[in-house]
Amino acid sequence: MSVMPGVVAGTKRLVLFDIDGTLLSAGPAARTAFASALHDVYGTSGDVDGYAFEGRLDPVIVTDLMRAAGVAEETIAARRADALALYVDRLEAGLRERAPSLKPGVPALLDALEKIPGLVAALLTGNVERGARVKLLAAGLWHRFAFGVWGDDASCREALGPVVLARARPATGRAFAGSECVVVGDSRQDVACGLALGARVVAVSTGRTALPALQAAGAHAVLVDLSDTRQALEAILG
Ligand SMILES: [Mg+2]
Repeated sequence: MSVMPGVVAGTKRLVLFDIDGTLLSAGPAARTAFASALHDVYGTSGDVDGYAFEGRLDPVIVTDLMRAAGVAEETIAARRADALALYVDRLEAGLRERAPSLKPGVPALLDALEKIPGLVAALLTGNVERGARVKLLAAGLWHRFAFGVWGDDASCREALGPVVLARARPATGRAFAGSECVVVGDSRQDVACGLALGARVVAVSTGRTALPALQAAGAHAVLVDLSDTRQALEAILG
Protein backbone atom coordinates (compact mmCIF):
# COMPACT_ATOMS: atom_id res chain seq x y z
CA MET A 1 0.00 0.00 0.00
CA SER A 2 1.57 3.32 -0.97
CA VAL A 3 1.79 6.15 1.50
CA MET A 4 0.12 9.41 0.49
CA PRO A 5 2.53 11.82 -1.22
CA GLY A 6 4.00 14.30 1.22
CA VAL A 7 3.63 11.96 4.17
CA VAL A 8 6.94 10.87 5.60
CA ALA A 9 7.24 7.13 6.13
CA GLY A 10 8.10 6.06 9.68
CA THR A 11 6.31 8.98 11.29
CA LYS A 12 6.27 8.23 15.01
CA ARG A 13 3.00 9.65 16.26
CA LEU A 14 0.31 8.67 18.72
CA VAL A 15 -2.94 10.19 17.45
CA LEU A 16 -5.56 10.40 20.20
CA PHE A 17 -9.16 10.82 19.17
CA ASP A 18 -11.98 12.18 21.26
CA ILE A 19 -15.27 10.39 20.49
CA ASP A 20 -18.40 12.57 20.82
CA GLY A 21 -18.50 15.47 18.39
CA THR A 22 -15.21 14.35 16.84
CA LEU A 23 -15.71 10.80 15.48
CA LEU A 24 -19.46 10.57 15.86
CA SER A 25 -22.64 11.92 17.35
CA ALA A 26 -24.73 9.56 19.46
CA GLY A 27 -27.73 11.88 18.98
CA PRO A 28 -30.18 12.22 21.86
CA ALA A 29 -29.47 8.66 23.10
CA ALA A 30 -26.70 9.63 25.54
CA ARG A 31 -28.57 12.45 27.29
CA THR A 32 -31.76 10.38 27.44
CA ALA A 33 -29.90 7.39 28.91
CA PHE A 34 -28.14 9.62 31.47
CA ALA A 35 -31.45 11.21 32.50
CA SER A 36 -33.25 7.93 33.08
CA ALA A 37 -30.30 6.26 34.84
CA LEU A 38 -29.83 9.20 37.21
CA HIS A 39 -33.55 9.28 37.92
CA ASP A 40 -33.68 5.58 38.76
CA VAL A 41 -30.50 5.55 40.87
CA TYR A 42 -30.72 8.92 42.68
CA GLY A 43 -34.41 9.77 42.38
CA THR A 44 -33.68 12.86 40.25
CA SER A 45 -32.04 13.55 36.93
CA GLY A 46 -31.22 17.13 37.94
CA ASP A 47 -30.88 19.75 35.22
CA VAL A 48 -29.78 17.19 32.63
CA ASP A 49 -31.30 19.21 29.78
CA GLY A 50 -29.44 22.37 30.75
CA TYR A 51 -26.07 20.71 31.32
CA ALA A 52 -23.21 21.10 28.83
CA PHE A 53 -21.94 17.53 28.29
CA GLU A 54 -19.21 18.37 25.78
CA GLY A 55 -15.67 17.65 26.89
CA ARG A 56 -16.79 16.36 30.30
CA LEU A 57 -15.83 13.06 31.91
CA ASP A 58 -18.81 10.73 32.48
CA PRO A 59 -18.27 10.37 36.27
CA VAL A 60 -17.93 14.17 36.54
CA ILE A 61 -21.25 14.61 34.70
CA VAL A 62 -22.91 12.45 37.37
CA THR A 63 -21.25 14.37 40.20
CA ASP A 64 -22.01 17.83 38.75
CA LEU A 65 -25.67 17.09 38.07
CA MET A 66 -26.36 15.37 41.39
CA ARG A 67 -24.46 17.95 43.46
CA ALA A 68 -26.47 20.73 41.80
CA ALA A 69 -29.65 18.77 42.56
CA GLY A 70 -28.73 18.71 46.26
CA VAL A 71 -27.79 15.02 46.55
CA ALA A 72 -25.35 14.39 49.44
CA GLU A 73 -21.70 13.85 48.44
CA GLU A 74 -21.48 10.40 50.04
CA THR A 75 -24.66 9.30 48.26
CA ILE A 76 -23.29 10.55 44.93
CA ALA A 77 -20.06 8.64 45.43
CA ALA A 78 -21.72 5.45 46.71
CA ARG A 79 -24.11 5.13 43.76
CA ARG A 80 -22.00 6.56 40.91
CA ALA A 81 -20.81 3.20 39.56
CA ASP A 82 -24.40 1.89 39.52
CA ALA A 83 -25.61 5.03 37.74
CA LEU A 84 -22.90 4.75 35.07
CA ALA A 85 -23.56 1.03 34.55
CA LEU A 86 -27.28 1.67 34.12
CA TYR A 87 -26.53 4.61 31.81
CA VAL A 88 -24.47 2.38 29.50
CA ASP A 89 -27.15 -0.36 29.50
CA ARG A 90 -29.73 2.18 28.36
CA LEU A 91 -27.35 3.86 25.94
CA GLU A 92 -26.76 0.49 24.29
CA ALA A 93 -30.52 -0.06 23.97
CA GLY A 94 -30.99 3.46 22.60
CA LEU A 95 -28.26 3.05 20.01
CA ARG A 96 -29.87 -0.19 18.86
CA GLU A 97 -32.89 1.90 17.88
CA ARG A 98 -30.86 4.62 16.26
CA ALA A 99 -27.17 4.13 15.42
CA PRO A 100 -24.69 6.97 16.00
CA SER A 101 -23.93 9.18 13.00
CA LEU A 102 -20.32 9.32 11.90
CA LYS A 103 -18.75 12.73 11.40
CA PRO A 104 -17.73 13.55 7.81
CA GLY A 105 -14.50 11.97 6.60
CA VAL A 106 -13.84 9.83 9.67
CA PRO A 107 -13.54 6.36 8.07
CA ALA A 108 -11.37 7.71 5.22
CA LEU A 109 -9.08 9.51 7.66
CA LEU A 110 -8.69 6.38 9.82
CA ASP A 111 -7.90 4.38 6.66
CA ALA A 112 -5.22 6.92 5.71
CA LEU A 113 -3.70 6.99 9.20
CA GLU A 114 -3.54 3.19 9.26
CA LYS A 115 -1.28 3.27 6.20
CA ILE A 116 1.33 5.51 7.83
CA PRO A 117 4.10 3.36 9.32
CA GLY A 118 4.91 4.26 12.90
CA LEU A 119 1.61 5.98 13.53
CA VAL A 120 -0.78 4.64 16.18
CA ALA A 121 -4.42 5.71 16.52
CA ALA A 122 -5.94 5.52 20.01
CA LEU A 123 -8.81 6.99 22.03
CA LEU A 124 -8.73 9.79 24.60
CA THR A 125 -12.27 10.31 25.79
CA GLY A 126 -14.50 11.35 28.66
CA ASN A 127 -16.60 8.23 28.14
CA VAL A 128 -16.25 5.35 30.55
CA GLU A 129 -14.75 2.39 28.66
CA ARG A 130 -17.99 0.45 28.25
CA GLY A 131 -19.81 3.57 27.03
CA ALA A 132 -17.05 4.21 24.48
CA ARG A 133 -17.22 0.60 23.32
CA VAL A 134 -21.01 0.69 22.94
CA LYS A 135 -20.86 3.88 20.85
CA LEU A 136 -17.95 2.78 18.67
CA LEU A 137 -19.25 -0.77 18.12
CA ALA A 138 -22.57 0.72 16.98
CA ALA A 139 -20.62 2.99 14.62
CA GLY A 140 -18.36 0.18 13.34
CA LEU A 141 -15.19 1.88 14.65
CA TRP A 142 -14.27 -0.01 17.82
CA HIS A 143 -11.60 -2.14 16.11
CA ARG A 144 -9.81 0.89 14.66
CA PHE A 145 -7.96 1.96 17.83
CA ALA A 146 -4.97 0.39 19.56
CA PHE A 147 -6.07 1.33 23.08
CA GLY A 148 -8.00 3.92 25.00
CA VAL A 149 -7.88 6.24 27.99
CA TRP A 150 -11.29 6.69 29.60
CA GLY A 151 -13.37 9.11 31.61
CA ASP A 152 -12.82 7.23 34.86
CA ASP A 153 -9.03 7.07 34.50
CA ALA A 154 -8.58 10.47 36.18
CA SER A 155 -10.64 13.09 37.99
CA CYS A 156 -10.31 15.75 35.27
CA ARG A 157 -9.56 15.74 31.55
CA GLU A 158 -6.14 17.40 31.85
CA ALA A 159 -5.04 14.58 34.14
CA LEU A 160 -5.73 11.97 31.43
CA GLY A 161 -2.53 12.88 29.54
CA PRO A 162 -0.10 11.08 31.86
CA VAL A 163 -2.38 8.01 31.73
CA VAL A 164 -2.00 8.05 27.93
CA LEU A 165 1.78 7.89 28.17
CA ALA A 166 1.69 5.18 30.85
CA ARG A 167 -0.75 3.03 28.88
CA ALA A 168 0.80 3.52 25.44
CA ARG A 169 3.89 1.50 26.22
CA PRO A 170 2.27 -1.78 27.29
CA ALA A 171 -0.43 -1.35 24.62
CA THR A 172 1.86 -0.64 21.66
CA GLY A 173 5.28 -1.91 22.75
CA ARG A 174 6.69 1.58 22.26
CA ALA A 175 7.13 4.58 24.52
CA PHE A 176 5.73 7.92 23.32
CA ALA A 177 6.62 11.38 24.61
CA GLY A 178 3.90 14.02 24.95
CA SER A 179 5.47 15.86 22.00
CA GLU A 180 4.90 12.76 19.84
CA CYS A 181 1.16 12.81 20.60
CA VAL A 182 -1.59 14.55 18.66
CA VAL A 183 -4.95 15.18 20.30
CA VAL A 184 -7.92 15.46 17.95
CA GLY A 185 -11.04 16.84 19.62
CA ASP A 186 -14.03 19.15 19.40
CA SER A 187 -14.08 20.93 22.77
CA ARG A 188 -12.04 23.43 24.76
CA GLN A 189 -11.43 20.61 27.26
CA ASP A 190 -9.79 18.51 24.54
CA VAL A 191 -7.53 21.43 23.67
CA ALA A 192 -6.58 22.02 27.31
CA CYS A 193 -5.89 18.31 27.81
CA GLY A 194 -3.66 18.18 24.72
CA LEU A 195 -1.73 21.30 25.70
CA ALA A 196 -1.19 19.95 29.23
CA LEU A 197 0.25 16.79 27.67
CA GLY A 198 2.61 18.80 25.46
CA ALA A 199 0.85 17.37 22.41
CA ARG A 200 -0.06 18.89 19.09
CA VAL A 201 -3.78 19.75 19.16
CA VAL A 202 -6.10 19.55 16.17
CA ALA A 203 -9.58 20.86 16.86
CA VAL A 204 -12.66 20.23 14.73
CA SER A 205 -15.87 22.24 14.90
CA THR A 206 -18.14 19.23 14.37
CA GLY A 207 -19.28 19.37 17.99
CA ARG A 208 -20.89 22.25 19.86
CA THR A 209 -17.89 24.59 20.00
CA ALA A 210 -17.26 27.09 17.19
CA LEU A 211 -13.90 27.41 15.43
CA PRO A 212 -12.90 30.78 16.93
CA ALA A 213 -13.36 29.43 20.48
CA LEU A 214 -11.21 26.38 19.67
CA GLN A 215 -8.58 28.64 18.15
CA ALA A 216 -8.67 30.94 21.19
CA ALA A 217 -8.23 27.90 23.46
CA GLY A 218 -4.85 27.31 21.79
CA ALA A 219 -5.39 24.55 19.21
CA HIS A 220 -2.46 24.31 16.79
CA ALA A 221 -4.79 23.62 13.88
CA VAL A 222 -8.54 24.00 13.51
CA LEU A 223 -10.71 22.33 10.91
CA VAL A 224 -14.38 22.72 10.06
CA ASP A 225 -14.52 18.91 9.82
CA LEU A 226 -12.40 15.92 8.79
CA SER A 227 -13.91 15.51 5.32
CA ASP A 228 -10.76 16.57 3.44
CA THR A 229 -8.41 13.69 4.24
CA ARG A 230 -5.30 15.40 2.91
CA GLN A 231 -6.00 18.58 4.89
CA ALA A 232 -6.73 16.54 8.03
CA LEU A 233 -3.48 14.57 7.62
CA GLU A 234 -1.51 17.78 7.23
CA ALA A 235 -3.14 19.21 10.34
CA ILE A 236 -2.39 16.05 12.32
CA LEU A 237 1.19 15.60 11.16
CA GLY A 238 1.98 19.29 11.60
MG1 LIG B 1 -16.08 15.67 22.25
